[in-house]
Amino acid sequence: MCDVAIFGAGPYGLSLAAHLSTVPGLEVRIFGEPMSFWQTQMPRGMYLRSNWPATHIAAPASAGDSLGLAAFGREDGQPVPYPAPLEQFVRYGLWYQRRAVPNVERRTVRRLDAVNGSFRLTLDGGETVAARRVIVAAGIGGFARRPPQFDGLPPELASHTAEHSDLARFAGQSVLVVGSGQSALESAALLHESGAQVEVIGRANHINWLQGFLSYTLHHRLGTVVKKVLYAPTDVGPAGLSQLLARPALFNLLPRSTRDKLWKRAVRPAGARWLVARLQSVPIRLGRHVIAAREQGGKVHVRLDDFSERVVDHVLLGTGYRVDIARYGFWAPALLERIERVNGYPTLGPGLETSVPGLHIVGAPAVRSFGPIMQFVSGTRYAGPAVLRFMQRRQARAQVRVAAATV
Ligand SMILES: Cc1cc2nc3c(=O)[nH]c(=O)nc-3n(C[C@H](O)[C@H](O)[C@H](O)COP(=O)(O)OP(=O)(O)OC[C@H]3O[C@@H](n4cnc5c(N)ncnc54)[C@H](O)[C@@H]3O)c2cc1C
Repeated sequence: MCDVAIFGAGPYGLSLAAHLSTVPGLEVRIFGEPMSFWQTQMPRGMYLRSNWPATHIAAPASAGDSLGLAAFGREDGQPVPYPAPLEQFVRYGLWYQRRAVPNVERRTVRRLDAVNGSFRLTLDGGETVAARRVIVAAGIGGFARRPPQFDGLPPELASHTAEHSDLARFAGQSVLVVGSGQSALESAALLHESGAQVEVIGRANHINWLQGFLSYTLHHRLGTVVKKVLYAPTDVGPAGLSQLLARPALFNLLPRSTRDKLWKRAVRPAGARWLVARLQSVPIRLGRHVIAAREQGGKVHVRLDDFSERVVDHVLLGTGYRVDIARYGFWAPALLERIERVNGYPTLGPGLETSVPGLHIVGAPAVRSFGPIMQFVSGTRYAGPAVLRFMQRRQARAQVRVAAATV
């Protein structure tokens, strides 16, 4: 029986494990392939959109800056620039893991059961592990949103951006990219640069360029102090709102309708400013959507809502992700049923604990309770310390109870 089992070794799992490793005597086991989502489900050549301070994987206070991007850049021999290239961020994550969480077990958790107030994890290969507490840090890799119009098409003809780590394989082909958020736009730029003929179709009427001309100019004219007052280093949300969203515990106290409004405002689909020049010669049709798609002689025949048609070699869906924790394949049905959920999101309390005592969920599924920073690396600043504090309080209460019983 270990004290805590974490599964998922992306930024959240690693940060949590690093924080919990500071508790003397606590036995923590962590399962998963380190940084695998970033290595296998994002395209080579991509840049991170989050700014530099928001790209640090949070480390316990006792580590100081020793696990930050600057320390990594020094050891890597190459300072991490802004925007950070995906490849360098992956190296950073793996470096963080080797230094702070060397005990990661590269195993997948196949099933999670609740058994008499604790948990049983079944790993690939059938081995079981008992844990008093479980932290699910399994990310969004399994939540890719594929619109139903493409259901009848095989993956060779229509795939989600999450299915690719190398878009150069489409060189010389015609590709229709569906979506107008960062992932769709960046994929379109990478496809174009790899020699594919690309067109983008987006449902929205316009693209929100992050820091469009006006706000970019304003941002760069603000003095450092004003900028610090208006924008939190977590880099989520517009001026002012950014400060509120950087405080997930406060967000959690707001009325539901206010939280929903702020959430919607903070994470609307948007493209990074540095993609504008790279997309100059890529046709982008906005305010349009695909109403039907079918195979036609080894290609895809697509019909849009204006009844125009396309025949392309491939459709790439940059249609984002939709959190629904029921889609994690590891739940024992009886355990899943006990987790209070709304629209696929778990309802989380202090320490990001679910309605099942001892079961915590961090990362994007925590957004509905603690706000949009939880779907970004910068949310690790909150998650690690919050779970750590929660567990320390529980431990202290248990000690008081034991002492009282002894007296
Ligand atoms: C194209 C794209 C660009 C992005 N750019 C940014 C950015 O610039 N900045 C930013 O902050 N965020 C960005 N994000 C969001 C990013 O996904 C999150 O910030 C980050 O991945 C959250 O970390 P995580 O640990 O929750 O999830 P992940 O990094 O997905 O890690 C979860 C891990 O759990 C593993 N896992 C799942 N199930 C199991 C299991 N049963 N057993 C063991 N392991 C399991 C997965 O394999 C995965 O490795 C981007 C996302 C996408 C899709």
